[in-house]
Amino acid sequence: MSDKPAAPGELALDCVRTLAPYVPGKPIEELQRELGLSDIIKLASNENPFGPSPRALAAMRKAVADAWLYPDGSGHELKQKLAAKLNVDTNQITLGNGSNDLLVLLAEGFLKPGLEAVYSQYAFAVYPIAVQATGATGVAVPANPPDSAMPLGHDLAAMARAITPRTRIVFVANPNNPTGTWVPAGELKQFIAAVPPHALIALDEAYFEYSGALDIQDGIEWLADFPNLVVFRTFSKAYGLAGVRVGYAVSHPSVADMLNRVRQAFNVSVIGLAGASAALDDPEHVAAAVKVAVTERVRVAAQLEKSGTHALPSAGNFLLLHAGADARARYEALLRKGVIVRPLGSYQLPEYLRVTLGTVAQNDRFLAAWEAC
Ligand code: PMP
Repeated sequence: MSDKPAAPGELALDCVRTLAPYVPGKPIEELQRELGLSDIIKLASNENPFGPSPRALAAMRKAVADAWLYPDGSGHELKQKLAAKLNVDTNQITLGNGSNDLLVLLAEGFLKPGLEAVYSQYAFAVYPIAVQATGATGVAVPANPPDSAMPLGHDLAAMARAITPRTRIVFVANPNNPTGTWVPAGELKQFIAAVPPHALIALDEAYFEYSGALDIQDGIEWLADFPNLVVFRTFSKAYGLAGVRVGYAVSHPSVADMLNRVRQAFNVSVIGLAGASAALDDPEHVAAAVKVAVTERVRVAAQLEKSGTHALPSAGNFLLLHAGADARARYEALLRKGVIVRPLGSYQLPEYLRVTLGTVAQNDRFLAAWEAC
């Protein structure tokens, strides 16, 4: 670089200047501004259409009065409740500003230039971003081919082969976003057992609650057997609290200790802590939302299949649809009908669209709009 940068941003590290930023789903307000529509449904960010438990809402309203106070940086009450629910010690839990925060903290704590992290080609987009920001090398392993049993999903055997002495993190999203695919429990266990002790397995279970009857392991049950396993969960999906940003990692206490060193002291807000804590007292609310998503993913996929659109197998609250060459046009046509889904050009999946499962009425509206586009 010459002495004088073209703009001060050019002074940033190369690994940051070359980062492709995360592309979020289109916000409702943005579409309102752009097209002047009023009746819009957003099925683009895998949020829970039923929102949080009324108990969580009440607790958050109450917590607003404490907005002038810093939160309890140790998250004592929430950690106590999580520890009891998950049958782990509080010193195994790290709270985050969403699980995204914790994925970034893991990268920050364990990666640097010269080290590597392994992830699958179409895995959650935050992994490559978190890795690259540290200057470490991200190793994207080709995903399963589109015609396999778990199309575009993680090829665990290939991921195991990609591990080198420089690997410090292997990311596994189970189920994965945006594909919805999952890895069966037996295969996952074999894989985790084969990861050498110099690498951590970051097992991202953001959609774990939506597993239903599928063969998906609760990774937290394996922590005692695999000290290099780190499990990530979130209140953003099944708990309906995406807007207040609460997630957690469960790990060996020594890993939690490191995450706590790099995390901001007050990374979860007063309102987030109150909402998440109260949400844990209402498992029925979560179960009801999950039941709708699990039923709807079968119904919506079958309906789409009838009209010639193939949906990939999904264990999440969303479906990945093969929309073909006119996926972008279809996305835009849906926008004009007030339905926001997620285009996946940023994932190098330009022929696919991802739709979040909403309420039955929202899904019907999406299906009708899809047919009409
Ligand atoms: N992991 C996966 C697989 C996700 O899809 C998401 C959200 N899209 C996250 C983690 C992060 O969610 P949050 O930060 O809201 O917990």
